[in-house]
Amino acid sequence: MNPIILNKEGEELMTQDEIPEESKLTAFSAGRHSVCNGTMRVIGVSRTHKALVCPECCLRILFPQDVGTFRELRAYLLETDAS
Ligand SMILES: [Zn+2]
Repeated sequence: MNPIILNKEGEELMTQDEIPEESKLTAFSAGRHSVCNGTMRVIGVSRTHKALVCPECCLRILFPQDVGTFRELRAYLLETDAS
């Protein structure tokens, strides 16, 4: 799939080409951060939100608990601070 734009500064989540958009976001290895090549992962942060985090550079992108797939993440970020 194409990279997912994470914020308005244009940082991206890079995933392997063969991973479909409908794949679930898993706790480990969601993809790599375009800036530092860190392996981004998903953590729970509250009852309402999860976060995509980069352990290399400490980027942290919050999103709602009901966002479950890469496609839903892309859509959510497009309608929020990535645009
Ligand atoms: Zn990073």
